[in-house]
Amino acid sequence: MSDRAYFDWNATTPLRDEARRAMIDALDLPGNASSVHAEGREARKWIEGARTAIAHAVGALPKNLVFTSGGTEANALALAPGLRRDGAPPVERLVVSAIEHASVLAGGRFSQAAIERIGVTRDGIVDLGHLRELLHGRPPALVSIMLANNETGAIQPIAEAAGIVHAAGGLLHVDAVQPFGKIPFEMGELGADLLTVSAHKIGGPKGVGALVLAEGLAGLEPLLRGGGQELSRRAGTENVAGIAGFGAAAMAAMACLPPESGRLQRLQKRLEDGLQLTPGTIVFSSSVQRLLNTTLFTIPGLRAETAVIGFDLAGIAVSSGSACSSGKVQPSHVLEAMGFDRDIGQGAVRLSMGWSTRDADVDRCLEAWRNLSGRLLKGQRRNTA
Ligand code: PLP
Repeated sequence: MSDRAYFDWNATTPLRDEARRAMIDALDLPGNASSVHAEGREARKWIEGARTAIAHAVGALPKNLVFTSGGTEANALALAPGLRRDGAPPVERLVVSAIEHASVLAGGRFSQAAIERIGVTRDGIVDLGHLRELLHGRPPALVSIMLANNETGAIQPIAEAAGIVHAAGGLLHVDAVQPFGKIPFEMGELGADLLTVSAHKIGGPKGVGALVLAEGLAGLEPLLRGGGQELSRRAGTENVAGIAGFGAAAMAAMACLPPESGRLQRLQKRLEDGLQLTPGTIVFSSSVQRLLNTTLFTIPGLRAETAVIGFDLAGIAVSSGSACSSGKVQPSHVLEAMGFDRDIGQGAVRLSMGWSTRDADVDRCLEAWRNLSGRLLKGQRRNTA
């Protein structure tokens, strides 16, 4: 695969060397982390080391971090009625932004009747006026808004949203799966009561994630009951190697965050300047603050599935809109919520970069795009002639 260029980092990332090394070491540990003997204590040490690293990376207390099987499970664990701040009434309903990941839109353990959606602007930013309306004079709600969108990369005004939610007596869950390790943030500054992260978006293994709770949050209902692991918040023998890999990846991502930001900013500009040379190019959310690794774009008449295959044949891995799950091309619910019609939504192609992306990869991607778009535009001219 070495002759290929990978532009699908928001779907998943390659494993970092630091994570691989930690996982190989942890795989050789014989003990169960719940056992009191030396072997058990050694496994426990790896888990607690990772817990501390990840909790500190998001400005939280290690005891408030619950390891899960990934972002999806962390979101499902977070979204349940009954959550409350000490002494306050529990949340009864769920309000989610319309651009959330499918695992949030599914609503966790709320009934569908108890779920409402917040609209977004044409730029893909959550409409805070609408949020206020949805909360005003109503029973307390759990609100879920992502910090950065996985398709457009648009960064959401979480601290402002938190102010509105808390003033209305609600709680805020933040899905930070995409921005974790890419932009610096602290749970306290965001005002998040619950926060989701996932290992495989930052160079850790797939199948590990965490839900982080703010101090003083009560009423978390476990999804898995049985053993008392994770302070009885998530039963089951811990995935020691996966957790060790997550911790190592988080430390590596945080250590190289500032230099990476500068590098990605330059690469994103090079990429988007190149894309804009094609007449009619739309880069979604281009007028708002976005993750520096993410570019969602289209031109009128483009079919995303054709583009994805075309790029693939040219040796470049890209994805269409929200192809996070099945590889099926469906119109993007994110672009639909932003007010773009289905034709545009079905043509969106996502290019996402990471720490091993180089100028040469960007140039190769642009060359493939010139060929693909050239063929498309030629066909369109023929059809209208
Ligand atoms: N939330 C967001 C924003 C995502 O992009 C993803 C995965 O693409 C998830 C949640 C799910 O995370 P996981 O793949 O670890 O279940």
